[in-house]
Amino acid sequence: MNIDDATMPVSALAAGPDWHWRNRFHALGADFHTELPPQPLPAPRWVAHSDSCAKLLGLPADWQTHPDLNALAVFSGNALWPGMRPLASVYSGHQFGVWAGQLGDGRALSLGEIDTPSGPQELQLKGAGLTPYSRMGDGRAVLRSSIREFLCSEAMHGLGIPTTRALCIIGSPMPVLRETLETAAVVTRVAPSFIRFGHFEHFAQQHDPTRLQLLTDFVIEHHFPECRDKPQPYVALLAEVARHTAELMAQWQAVGFCHGVMNTDNMSILGLTIDYGPFGFLDGYDPGHICNHTDRQGRYAYASQPNVGFWNLHALAQGLMPLIGNDNTDAALGALEAYKTIYADAMHLRLRRKCGLTTAHKGDAGLIDALLKQMAYEQTDHTILFRRLSTFSTAKGADNSAVMDLFNDLQFRKRWADAYAERLQAERSDDVQRAAAMKRVNPSVVLRNHLAEAAIRQAQAGDFSEVQRLLKVLQNPFDERHDTSADAGFPPDWAQHIEVSCSS
Ligand code: AMP
Ligand code: MG
Repeated sequence: MNIDDATMPVSALAAGPDWHWRNRFHALGADFHTELPPQPLPAPRWVAHSDSCAKLLGLPADWQTHPDLNALAVFSGNALWPGMRPLASVYSGHQFGVWAGQLGDGRALSLGEIDTPSGPQELQLKGAGLTPYSRMGDGRAVLRSSIREFLCSEAMHGLGIPTTRALCIIGSPMPVLRETLETAAVVTRVAPSFIRFGHFEHFAQQHDPTRLQLLTDFVIEHHFPECRDKPQPYVALLAEVARHTAELMAQWQAVGFCHGVMNTDNMSILGLTIDYGPFGFLDGYDPGHICNHTDRQGRYAYASQPNVGFWNLHALAQGLMPLIGNDNTDAALGALEAYKTIYADAMHLRLRRKCGLTTAHKGDAGLIDALLKQMAYEQTDHTILFRRLSTFSTAKGADNSAVMDLFNDLQFRKRWADAYAERLQAERSDDVQRAAAMKRVNPSVVLRNHLAEAAIRQAQAGDFSEVQRLLKVLQNPFDERHDTSADAGFPPDWAQHIEVSCSS
C-alpha cells in the first residue's frame, strides 16, 4: 500500500457500461454546484456490493470483474467512465432546529445521471474527498459508517420503504481520524435525485428568487410533472412533498426506524430516506428512544419524528414562499395542514395491517393503543412482538403463549388476547390467511445495532463476509426462513452499550 497514491490523478477510462448519460442537474448552472473530480482513494478493495442495485442500473452480471469497466477504480473515485461529470451541490439547512447557513455536499460527489428501465438514476460517491462545501471536514467517510449506510439503504428497500439505494462499498487502508483512528471507505449511492429541502432553503435565504424558481421548476418538471398544470404549481408541489413525507414517516414508525438526524438538509424532496448516520431500529418499544448519542435533548426521538417531519415541511414552505406569494399563504398552510391527516390515516392503516385487521372498526384505535401502551410500559421488543402476533390463533382455548408471554402482566395478557380474538372473529379473520398477510408487513429481521456492529467488527479485522451475508438477509426481511435464526432474535446484552453518534 502506498498512501501517497492519494496524489495520483483520476484517470479517464476509454469505456464504461452501455449507459445513456443525462446529467440534467448540470444545466441549472454554476450557482448550484461545483464540478470537480473525486479525490483518489489509495489501495482500494471491494468490501460489499448489492446485486439488486446493480440490476436496477442495468449493469452486466460481471460488472465488478470486467477488465474493460474497471469498476473498482471508478467506485473508489480513482477513475471516471466516459459520460461522468462529477459535481458537488450546494445547499443550506436547519440543523437541530437552528439555521445552520450554507452546507452542501461536503463529502458526496454526484458522478452523473443515467437512464434506467425504472427512470433516471443519479450515482453518487459518499466519502470521495474534499469539496468546496467540506467546511471543517475531511471529505471522507469511515468504513464503520459506510457499512451502516450501505446495509440500511438496502434493508429499507427490502422493507419496501422509499430510500436512496447503495451499490457498493470500497474500502482503503487510508487512515481517517474520528474519535479514534479508523480507515476510509466510499459508498456508491443511487437515487432518482439527491435534492433536499435545504437546496430550496439555500436560494430563499440568499434572496435569489430567480435561482429558487429555476430549481423548483426543475424539480416539478422532472419529478412532479403532475404539479405543472395545477392552478398553483408551487403549492401543489408543497402538497405532494408533504404527502410523500407523511407516508415516509408512517413507514418509519411502523417498522420502528429512528433516523437520528432529521435536519432539513437530510430531508429528500422525493420523500426518500436519505443520509444514514446514527440511525437505529427499536429493540424494546420505547417511544422516547433517542438513537443519536449526540442528540442530548432528544429532538429526534422516535416518537417525535412525525412532528419533526411537519416542522421541516414548514421550513421548506418558508423557502418556497417567494414563489408561492404572500397572497397564497392560506393555500400553502392548507397544503401543510393536510400532512396531519395523511400521516394519521397512513399510520392507522399500517398499524391495522400490522395487527392483521383488514376492515376498519370503531374500537380498533383503542385496541391497538392498549397494545402499544403495554409494549411501552414493558419495553417489549417491537419487531419480535409484531412478528409473533402473526401466529395468534382465534381457535377456542388456543395456546397463544408464544406471543402473549412476551408480556409480564398476566391480566393484560388475558384481557388483550380476548379482545383481539373477539375483534378478529368479528371480521371472520382466517388464521392462516391473516398470518401470511401479517408476515408480509411485520419483518422478521431489521438492521438492529448489534447486527451492524458484528459485521463492522469483522470487516475492521479484514473479513467482509458478514456484511455480504447480512445484506442478503436484510434484502428479504419478511422471509420465514429467518424466523428461527439469531438475526431475528432478541438483542444480546452488550447491544445496550452500543453508542452511535453523528461522527462518521
Ligand atoms: P450530516 O449531518 O452527516 O448530514 O452532515 C451535515 C453536513 O456536513 C453536510 O453538508 C455534509 O456534507 C457535511 N459533512 C459531514 N461529514 C463530513 C466530512 N467528514 N467531511 C466534509 N463534510 C462533511
Ligand atoms: Mg447530510
